[in-house]
Amino acid sequence: LMERLNISPTRRIAGLGRHQIKELRNEFMKNTHAVRPGKLIVLSGPGGVGKSTIAALLRKSGDFWVSVSATTRQPRNNELNGIDYFFITNDEFDRRIKEDEFLEWAEFAGNRYGTPQEKVEQALLLGRNVLLEIEIAGAKQVKSHLPQSILVFLEPPTWEELVARLEGRGTDSPERRAARLALAQEEMAQASFFDKVLINDQVDGVVASLIEFASA
Ligand code: 5GP
Repeated sequence: LMERLNISPTRRIAGLGRHQIKELRNEFMKNTHAVRPGKLIVLSGPGGVGKSTIAALLRKSGDFWVSVSATTRQPRNNELNGIDYFFITNDEFDRRIKEDEFLEWAEFAGNRYGTPQEKVEQALLLGRNVLLEIEIAGAKQVKSHLPQSILVFLEPPTWEELVARLEGRGTDSPERRAARLALAQEEMAQASFFDKVLINDQVDGVVASLIEFASA
């Protein structure tokens, strides 16, 4: 691997640059057969479609290790730090980008969200199936870093149902809700980029399909 990446064999890990370590890690992720690495499933889709409900069920099922993202958004009423998200400041988010700590990150409706890279890779190398529940730009970044990942797009049964769900979110201001609707419309047009499309008409069916993709 080191030869392929033009890293001298006399170099020690501690002496490698940040980018060299990243390239080496990516190569390991593609090539390791020591333990059967877990599958990386990326669940995406328009805001309000119900991704987080599915993610919570999969976490409970034990079939997946579900990543907890970092975000600069303020916590909602019932959200807990370290469980729903790691709620961090803009400065801390900047630092993590600079230190290359995110597998992907994106801005969504005025806030930033990112997936901690190291924990995801560790879980995969230990053979765990990993689920990321993220928005579309981030999903595309994951695919370009880790082409073996499976991108799944979750669609609402109808557009009207998605609108009803987004409008029912009492925690958002009217401006924020309007922005989320406009974004959802753009997001719905992205399904064809994904490896699989699931319709969220029955939560249990979606959960079963995701478990099946990971074991296929
Ligand atoms: P919310 O603020 O409603 O919790 O999430 C807004 C959007 O950000 C959702 O579509 C959610 O899937 C996405 N999201 C959550 N965590 C991440 C992340 O780590 N990276 C990216 N790219 N999107 C995320």
